[in-house]
Amino acid sequence: MKNLTLISIIVFLSFSVFSQDIKYNLRMVKPQNHYFQVEMELSNFSEKELEIKMPVWAPGSYLVREFAKNVDLVKAFDEAGKSLTVNKISKNTWTIAKGKSKKVVVKYEVYSFELSVRTSFLDLTHGYVSGTGIFMYVNNHQQHKGSLEIFPYKDFKTISTSLPRKGESVASDGSELFEFENYDQLVDCPIEIGNQEVFEFTAAGVVHTVAMYGVGNFDIKQLQQDMARVVTTATTVIGENPNKKYTFIIHNVVDGQGGLEHMNSTTLSVNRWTYQGAEYMGFLSLVAHEYFHLWNVKRIRPFTLGPFNYDEENYTTLLWVMEGFTSYYDELLLRRAGYYTKDEYLNKIQGTINYVEGSVGTRVQPVAHASFDAWIKGYRPNENSGNTQMTYYSRGQMLAALIDAKIIAKHKGQKCLDHFLQQLYNKYYKQLKRGFTDAEFKKELELLLGENLDAFFANYVNGTETPPFNDILGAIGIDVESVGTSKPNFGAAMRQDGNKVVVRSIRSGSAAENMGLSVNDEVIGCNGFRVDQASFELFLASLELGSEIKILVARDELLFELSGNMTLYNKPQFLFKLSPDANKVKLLEYWLRVVE
Ligand SMILES: [Zn+2]
Repeated sequence: MKNLTLISIIVFLSFSVFSQDIKYNLRMVKPQNHYFQVEMELSNFSEKELEIKMPVWAPGSYLVREFAKNVDLVKAFDEAGKSLTVNKISKNTWTIAKGKSKKVVVKYEVYSFELSVRTSFLDLTHGYVSGTGIFMYVNNHQQHKGSLEIFPYKDFKTISTSLPRKGESVASDGSELFEFENYDQLVDCPIEIGNQEVFEFTAAGVVHTVAMYGVGNFDIKQLQQDMARVVTTATTVIGENPNKKYTFIIHNVVDGQGGLEHMNSTTLSVNRWTYQGAEYMGFLSLVAHEYFHLWNVKRIRPFTLGPFNYDEENYTTLLWVMEGFTSYYDELLLRRAGYYTKDEYLNKIQGTINYVEGSVGTRVQPVAHASFDAWIKGYRPNENSGNTQMTYYSRGQMLAALIDAKIIAKHKGQKCLDHFLQQLYNKYYKQLKRGFTDAEFKKELELLLGENLDAFFANYVNGTETPPFNDILGAIGIDVESVGTSKPNFGAAMRQDGNKVVVRSIRSGSAAENMGLSVNDEVIGCNGFRVDQASFELFLASLELGSEIKILVARDELLFELSGNMTLYNKPQFLFKLSPDANKVKLLEYWLRVVE
């Protein structure tokens, strides 16, 4: 038997005397210059030199964004206010020569003028903090808890974030104190500071706060009802909602860009007029998507996606599951919540299959590679991407539908993809408290399906083949017919640039490529006539197979005439038909069930 009392006293002393303390102060004294002022008060660090780092990326958005590029005026002081030497040793690392100082205050400013869900912004109307671009961390000390005090600009009255408040009161200067368990939590909680409209709703036993920046055509009562319905339906998939509180930050702007997921919050960026008519389903689908991520990717996750390495790319081949399955559920949940009819939902799936199979890139880039290369390809598209890339969102969504159908058929309408996700959630998130490897993911699916999936993964995940839709979906009552036709297709996309018609992209193997047309060429005339974008496209649409085409182009101020012939371009199209087999209808009903 050990002397537990003695051990606990030693542990207690060492923590109380030597434990490091981290406090951030965030100010925005002059929002019109778009700079946040940050202070890191670091106490009781034993090292003589501290390394302070700024992340290079924001989890959930797989691109190195080099947040250090926005950091200016990094300075450090000891407890007496004396300047300490600050050196820069890498693109995102500063060292502070602190010697024996008990306390160090690091001060810096961050230029914040990119309003998106994964970057930060400040002007006279509001401040938005995406933590990975604002808060630096002490290298090797990311696990420490700490606090954050926010001093809002004098005209900003409201702070919205899922970071826990330390104490309930707001100080007389408007500042509020928050706490965090570790650096991951600090930067996983985006913060909206301003005069946003805030409302709440409770669903699945969770209190949801919604912070609305910007005007829009929203009806709060309607949103409370519909968002609660989406949340309740989403919670039935795994069967438990791990949060007590959840925060939606919604930016209502001209160009909405989508959302970014977090453990207990999300930021959505939407067009401010998205809340009426057909657009509204798109909004609810985005809510469902980001909300579903609180399970899929934040808790059910690949091994490499958490704890994060903020210093470099975090590679995974499983984004087709993290984003693809989530995309599958963002529509399926709306069907289960009763927003789509069966036919409307089946049309969505059909549309996804037609998009994926009709894309040139789906035959070039396996979805596992698309995932791995998100950093250099998916997030950095160029004019040739349409010929070479397949998005893991769409192909992943298609594969999710097929895997769901396989599970439903195998378990005769008693189990579906929900059960597979429950299996991963219970085993890896709850029991093992970690992510899974590629091999573990495949093994778990094989376990549920009772079949070897080597060929499935080789052909459709690591390969680029067309899956046997009819076999897989046919087993749950949907016949899939290929109605692919070969039509003449020129294969160039245009844009109107002032008075100029400019080539935007060229499809590989097309008539346009064969005759030597290039991206950025200005199309001046065609078969002897001057054209604008509309007349050029009308002309191309009227051409038959083999028709002769002569195009006058300008490239780098030089004039050329290009000539060639119209060719065929194959684009497979699939049509869904419901099969009348009574036994299969039961499976189809289960797949498309509405959950009350
Ligand atoms: Zn997503």
